Amino acid sequence: MKTALVVGGGPAGLIAADELSRAGAKVIVIDAKPSVGRKFLMAGKSGLNLTKYEALGPFVENYSDAQSWLGPILNTFGPEQVVQFAERLEQSVFTGTSDRIFPDAMKASPLLRAWINRLSEQGVEFRTKWRWLGWDGSTLTFETPEGAQSVEADGTVFALGGASWARLGSDGHWAKIFAKEGFKLAPFGASNAGIGVAWSAHMEPHFGTPLKAVAFRSGTYSSRGEAIISKGGLEGGGIYSVSRGVREGGDLYFDLMPDWTIDRVRHALAKPRGKNSLTNHIRKTLNLKKHELALLGEWARPLPSDAKDLAPVIKNLKVGHSGLRPMDEAISTSGGVAQAAFDENLMLHARPGTFCAGEMLDWEAPTGGYLLTACFATGYTAGRGAARYLGLTPTP
Ligand SMILES: Cc1cc2nc3c(=O)[nH]c(=O)nc-3n(C[C@H](O)[C@H](O)[C@H](O)COP(=O)(O)OP(=O)(O)OC[C@H]3O[C@@H](n4cnc5c(N)ncnc54)[C@H](O)[C@@H]3O)c2cc1C
Repeated sequence: MKTALVVGGGPAGLIAADELSRAGAKVIVIDAKPSVGRKFLMAGKSGLNLTKYEALGPFVENYSDAQSWLGPILNTFGPEQVVQFAERLEQSVFTGTSDRIFPDAMKASPLLRAWINRLSEQGVEFRTKWRWLGWDGSTLTFETPEGAQSVEADGTVFALGGASWARLGSDGHWAKIFAKEGFKLAPFGASNAGIGVAWSAHMEPHFGTPLKAVAFRSGTYSSRGEAIISKGGLEGGGIYSVSRGVREGGDLYFDLMPDWTIDRVRHALAKPRGKNSLTNHIRKTLNLKKHELALLGEWARPLPSDAKDLAPVIKNLKVGHSGLRPMDEAISTSGGVAQAAFDENLMLHARPGTFCAGEMLDWEAPTGGYLLTACFATGYTAGRGAARYLGLTPTP
């Protein structure tokens, strides 16, 4: 019987293990942490957005252009297959706001439990607290509670994750080992990250307040998603979507009146002010909320009193920020193993029989189910590619 190692027990690794074991390989899943799927469980805390109900064409467009290699992979395993996969594990799903798909349970633990049980029934072995340290020729070496161990396998799938939330296992240390071996890597960057703001004291009452009717823009990225004012800055899907623009050096702007044209804002502000303070006048004419007025004061004081000059400030409020929050807090990371290093089955050119999957590959996408879908899809492709490399036939 052929033996395959899957190093990294996140969603990408587990789906690769599934494909390999169903094809008839003896599979050992190895993970550095005491249990597998820790980041997957964390994703479940916000509902576990598995994928998105969207036609494949527009769905794939959410992945950066440069990563066109992902297109065919998502074509084989896209939103439809993610739903079928969850349902095979007896986890029914529903379509929520913005066509995002979640398990009915709104968390990851029932799905993960069912998945691990199925893998165990298929004979998959799990070795946890085993940290991969590198290669010694064709042998993989590990640090384990029982001391150093070496394992030789017929094929290997690496699914070691990106470089955020290190405490859940994805510490990105593997990149040093890959770099030493000469594999082409793109540097890690924070993706879907919060924005740091050094707030003045008058913003404290607004910490925790959601920004609902606000649009965000940075560089070529724009969004009207949800965001929240937090102690450390700005968080939430709406901000994450434009964080790439900030990472690429763009300024960040808020539109506090996204449903109004600038002329309409100017016209409303030009009404007679009477004895109202300027802030009261803005509140009354534009119906801005307290926290929105506070943001205006925070970043644009002293406000121009003339409607002609004030309207563009409200439509293009330049955010005073201190850059992206630290990469370890980011939902995901860009960068990783570059396309030049692997083939269409995600096998490393320089190490036949060794495949890579998941967030450790160099691709990037917004939140909304795109991240997990690509992890599942690349894990599926790598697992099936590895099975074929071992001379096995993946199951239909
Ligand atoms: C707060 C939060 C919420 C999220 N919500 C969503 C969501 O709703 N929808 C969505 O699509 N995505 C979401 N994501 C992103 C998603 O969880 C990740 O993209 C996904 O888990 C990546 O899967 P992966 O299998 O590639 O890697 P990971 O899940 O990171 O797994 C990598 C595994 O490799 C192991 N490992 C690393 N190095 C070694 C080593 N040297 N030796 C052995 N093992 C090692 C780690 O311990 C880990 O178990 C969220 C992320 C976060 C942080």
